[in-house]
Amino acid sequence: FDQMLDKLEHSFQKEKQFTSDASHELRTPVTVILSQCEYLLEEGNLSGEERKSVEAIQRKARNMARMISQLLLLSRADQGRQQVQKERLNLSELTQMIAEEQEILAREKEIQVLAEIQPDIYAQADESLYIRMLDNLISNAVNYGKKGGYVKVLLSEEENMVKGVVEDNGKGIPQESLPRIWERFYRVDTSRTDQEHSGLGLSMVKWIVQAHGGEITVESQEGQGSRFIFQIPED
Ligand code: ADP
Repeated sequence: FDQMLDKLEHSFQKEKQFTSDASHELRTPVTVILSQCEYLLEEGNLSGEERKSVEAIQRKARNMARMISQLLLLSRADQGRQQVQKERLNLSELTQMIAEEQEILAREKEIQVLAEIQPDIYAQADESLYIRMLDNLISNAVNYGKKGGYVKVLLSEEENMVKGVVEDNGKGIPQESLPRIWERFYRVDTSRTDQEHSGLGLSMVKWIVQAHGGEITVESQEGQGSRFIFQIPED
């Protein structure tokens, strides 16, 4: 029995290693595709049609790059190899900056990003992981948001915890799907997305919050909007 368990454990480990290696190997070709697209768009002297094609390739390659980096993080996390480099960060400033950057993308969808951030909140956090976590929550809120709607980003301090909220008044999530949205590759409705989404984002978000000793929850009403709430310990 012990031998069987060992064998199983060994094959699980091999599978995790395979996902990690595969994601790692895929990074280089996708980077090359992206830099070639950039070169063509800047220097290629392209016709209107050609430009459209290259832009389409660039969009797909960006999605692939995002998916690969999410896979890499999750497979490293499974193996206990994902590094979390915490330092004392001003989360108020960082959150404001992330919200402002996302505002530019939201504008295309006529969505307003409203930030209400209590100043000078500090926590021990990994800067790049915090950025990835919040970027993901806000871009989901924009993506599943309502044209002409809003996305609120709130940050406050409550009983030695930093509380962050990302709220939208968009499509919302059906009650029966709520427990499943954290699963890898789970998407509520594969037809309603434009194939740009892999369903890995929230698994990554949850892992990042937990790696900071925190928790994340969601409240949502279909057709009315969603509210993601994360809490991490203060500095
Ligand atoms: P995806 O890459 O598909 O966005 P996520 O893991 O980030 O993957 O999200 C999983 C699913 O949860 C999404 O496919 C979507 O159906 C749902 N979802 C996530 N955020 C929101 C939101 N703010 N509003 C409505 N649905 C959401």
